[in-house]
Amino acid sequence: MSFNDIIGQEKAKELLLRSIKENKISSSYLFWGKEGVGKKFTALEFAKAINCLHPGEDFTSCENCYSCSKINKLCSPDLNIIEPVKNTISIQQIRDLQHQLNLKPLESKRKFYIIDRAEKMTEQAENCLLKTLEEPPPKVIIILICQHPGYLLPTIISRCQLINFTTLKSVNLKRIISTLKKKDLDDEKLELICRLARGSVGKALNLISKKEYLKKREEILNLLISISPKKYDLLSFNRIKDFFSGTDDQLEEAIEIMLFWYHDLLFIQELPIHRYLFNIDKLSILQEKSKIYSLKRLKNILEYLGQIKELIERNINKQLLADELYLKLVGEDGD
Ligand SMILES: [Zn+2]
Repeated sequence: MSFNDIIGQEKAKELLLRSIKENKISSSYLFWGKEGVGKKFTALEFAKAINCLHPGEDFTSCENCYSCSKINKLCSPDLNIIEPVKNTISIQQIRDLQHQLNLKPLESKRKFYIIDRAEKMTEQAENCLLKTLEEPPPKVIIILICQHPGYLLPTIISRCQLINFTTLKSVNLKRIISTLKKKDLDDEKLELICRLARGSVGKALNLISKKEYLKKREEILNLLISISPKKYDLLSFNRIKDFFSGTDDQLEEAIEIMLFWYHDLLFIQELPIHRYLFNIDKLSILQEKSKIYSLKRLKNILEYLGQIKELIERNINKQLLADELYLKLVGEDGD
């Protein structure tokens, strides 16, 4: 793998390669964009390109030298990856980083510190890191990775060069996934997974490895297909209630599958094109079912599904949420 293997992030790639070419490398970067679009991969490729002992004419890494192979194995002493521990990056982790910072690189041109999921830094950790970003030691490059700059202190953002990673286009996601997982995916399944993953490689790989995901999706969709507005039925009501009695993770997954379904019903009513549908394998059923839903009801359902996660976090009784959702699905229009 090298810089040339980064797919779909042409702008980020060009900016970083140009900074190497013109020798205008910043001391701190913020790579931001959705999960699974290649931010960490690019950070590692950037480190490799800069520290490579025999870079190519286009300034990309050789992949064979001592430095490249050590970074590929993630065992270079000059490459440090800081990740959340129990969902938090603590001030102690940043202090440890600062301790090492002033030591010269052991065997590379530059030392790299990659702070993955930087939005998990506590406020104290961020303030502590700020001191380093304000007075960066020589030969050190800090790359913060996060989903959106808005999650970080403005003072942190102002010290970094921001590089945006866009959501991958479906065609690029398909290219990546088919390179990584050549064997057991037929074209139809690949297409479906890429749509459900919404431009995220990480999500797509996760969906592929979770064998039971598609089975569960099928079960939920069968239930949703069996539900019709204004037709109350105890069996489907109890099934909806079942989802709400499982774990939060299971519920979140079920809610997402429901969101995709009602999103598609709304979309198919509004637009004749199918490019934006998630459940492309259910096209004819979607077309049929969309006729019995009013626009108002679909918008209400989607709005409610979008709020459920937040309501759970606020400890609202889950069975009440199930009742309310069922009412949105089968109650009077727009209730
Ligand atoms: Zn090399």
